[in-house]
Amino acid sequence: MSLGSFAVPDSKRRATPLPRPIANMQTFNPDSSIASDVIPSANFGERNKGRMPDVQGAIAQLCTAGTDVSAHYIVLEDGRIIQCVPESKRAWHAGVATWAGEDDINSCSIGVEIVNRGHDWGYPEYPLRQIAAVIALCRGIMLRRNVPSHRVLAHSDVAPTRKKDPGEKFPWHSMANSGVGHWVQPAPIVRSEGLKIGTISDAVRDLQLALARYGYGVPVTGKYDTTTMEVVTAFQRHFRPARVDGVADHSTLVTLQTLLASLPAAAVAAATT
Ligand SMILES: [Zn+2]
Repeated sequence: MSLGSFAVPDSKRRATPLPRPIANMQTFNPDSSIASDVIPSANFGERNKGRMPDVQGAIAQLCTAGTDVSAHYIVLEDGRIIQCVPESKRAWHAGVATWAGEDDINSCSIGVEIVNRGHDWGYPEYPLRQIAAVIALCRGIMLRRNVPSHRVLAHSDVAPTRKKDPGEKFPWHSMANSGVGHWVQPAPIVRSEGLKIGTISDAVRDLQLALARYGYGVPVTGKYDTTTMEVVTAFQRHFRPARVDGVADHSTLVTLQTLLASLPAAAVAAATT
C-alpha cells in the first residue's frame, strides 16, 4: 500500500461537493464499507506482473479519462472516503517507483491519496478526523489484502526523487499506534558531522546498504550522490520528521538501524535475497 497526499490550494469550504460520476463509466461496489462514495476512475488497468486546482478538480483529475493518474481511494479533509478504482484493479498512482526490488508498484499496491494543500501551499496539519479515516481505511485494506505493517509506505518512499507526499507532517506515529505502518521512536538529534552530498566512504556504502535493505531504491556505490540525498530525505520525512535536510546525521543513522532491527525476520530475509 502506498499513501500520499495531493495539493489543493483552497480548502476553506467544509463539505466539498463531489464531481458527478461520468455517465457512461461502469460503477462498482466499494471494497471498503467506510467509503462514502464511489466515483469510478477511467485511469486503471489490469494488474500485471502536480499540482491541482482544488479538491473537486483534484478528484476529477484522479477519476477522469486521459489524465493518466488515479488512486484507489481519496480521503478528504472532512474524513469522507471516495473510492475511484476497485482494489482488484491496478490504479496509476505511484508512477515510476520502486520498493524492495519491485518496480511495478502500481501492480502490487493499493493507492490512497490524502487531500492536503501540500508543500507549495503552506502545507497545513492533517485534521484529526481525516487521519482517523485514513487509519480505518488502511486497517480494512491490510486485513482484506494481507498487507503487513512495514509495507504501508509513503509515495515519497517509493518515488523519492519525484514525490514528497504525504510529507513530514503526516502522523506516522499515530498511524503505527493504531496498527498501521512500521515505526520506531526516532533517535534524538545531537551535534554530529553527518554524511552528506559528495562524501565517498565505506560509511556511505553501509548507509546505502541499510536503506536498500529496508526497501529503498538506492544504488550501493559508496558515493553520497543526489539519489542518496533524495532517499535520505524521504527516509527523514517518514521516520525522522523533526529535521528533513538530506544529511545522514547520527540520529538518522541510528533511527535507520533501529528500524531495521525491529523488522520482522521474514521481511529482512526477503529484503536481503
Ligand atoms: Zn501521492
